Amino acid sequence: MRTRLERDCDVLICGASFAGLAVARELAGSGARVLMIDRYEIGERQTSACGIPTAWLESMDLTGSVRQTFDELTVHTPYRTSRWPLPWTFSTFDYRELCAAMWEQAGDGELEFETATVTARRGHVVETDRGELRAPLIVDGLGWRRVLSNASPIQPPNARLSRGLEVHPKGQGEEMELWLDSNYIRAGYGWSFPAGDELRIGIGSFWPSHHVKEPTVTLAGDLGLPPDGYQGNWIPHQLRRAVEDSVFFTGDSAGHCLPLTAEGIRTAIYFGLACGRELRAVIEGRLTREQALSRYGAFSDAHGRKFAWLLAVQRAIGQITPSRAATAVTRAFESRRISHWAFNHYLAIAPPSFALGGPRRSNRHGRHLIAAAG
Ligand SMILES: Cc1cc2nc3c(=O)[nH]c(=O)nc-3n(C[C@H](O)[C@H](O)[C@H](O)COP(=O)(O)OP(=O)(O)OC[C@H]3O[C@@H](n4cnc5c(N)ncnc54)[C@H](O)[C@@H]3O)c2cc1C
Repeated sequence: MRTRLERDCDVLICGASFAGLAVARELAGSGARVLMIDRYEIGERQTSACGIPTAWLESMDLTGSVRQTFDELTVHTPYRTSRWPLPWTFSTFDYRELCAAMWEQAGDGELEFETATVTARRGHVVETDRGELRAPLIVDGLGWRRVLSNASPIQPPNARLSRGLEVHPKGQGEEMELWLDSNYIRAGYGWSFPAGDELRIGIGSFWPSHHVKEPTVTLAGDLGLPPDGYQGNWIPHQLRRAVEDSVFFTGDSAGHCLPLTAEGIRTAIYFGLACGRELRAVIEGRLTREQALSRYGAFSDAHGRKFAWLLAVQRAIGQITPSRAATAVTRAFESRRISHWAFNHYLAIAPPSFALGGPRRSNRHGRHLIAAAG
């Protein structure tokens, strides 16, 4: 039988993946009593193909987890294969190693971790399968289900969600490849990301009602590989409210995954860092909780126009994928000038320099909030 877990803490971080760990990293050494919970051990269940702009790993000091690095994208349509030169590189990384490194960066304070499944929330009480946890500062980094929200539930296929599934067969490759091909998926794309001794091969669909298992198996088969080691999930593709009822939502729970590309790791880290910095300001007495909620909500909202723009392109691609028009677009990106311009703007939505800022580790003796909040 599992032991009971009933506790008061200053900050309760629910979810120990990219978003939750980024929040915790910003609280290192703050002196606050921080409790992080997840239904699995840290790093136990990979939640993505783990491809990210390398500069993010560099600025976060996480390059030890890198498996392979790519300076171009190979994009296949039914009519042509294009090679897009990138102004910066993408890397694949090992999920378990990256999570362990982020945990280590966060762990020099009074951070604790427990495995528990979150079931609901009443005000400042989070209910889990092991008991109730209380904190004045609560973070939902639980992914697309947004478990700590008490608003109407968001459920597929009606919700604004994409879906992705991948397999991880043993094998090796040199190219980071994408497929824009309606033979695999009508609105979406396929991918193969080499990562050392395995390939991460998958299909993402922009339409929640379109199934991804059969095309994933087909793509792996076309590459001569078995569909080993399934991993998949829903992916929100529209910004949601980043604060609700005094709870901070970050990463997929706040719809922070970028539409069109479904790139959600660096944004989960980016918004997680932003959230952690606001929480730290509360711990250090520089902001009230309400001010922090308001500032963090405004920070997230300020990205609305860029997310809306990417969503508009995603929808347009849903219309043109099967045609030669898609091939013309992919061909245009063979131009270094066009590709560099587009990818530099794309990176700027959540730039790696953001990881270098923030008031981290400035105060190792922050006050305990429960006392401070009275
Ligand atoms: C197949 C696939 C491939 C992808 N590939 C990439 C990629 O290569 N690059 C990229 O940038 N993005 C990729 N994405 C998107 C990316 O995975 C997400 O945007 C990202 O993981 C969001 O991070 P997060 O921390 O918000 O949530 P998650 O990584 O989903 O983490 C949520 C955490 O909460 C825990 N949790 C959930 N519910 C509960 C509960 N009730 N109680 C306790 N714990 C709970 C989970 O165990 C997990 O640890 C991919 C998505 C899919 C589906």
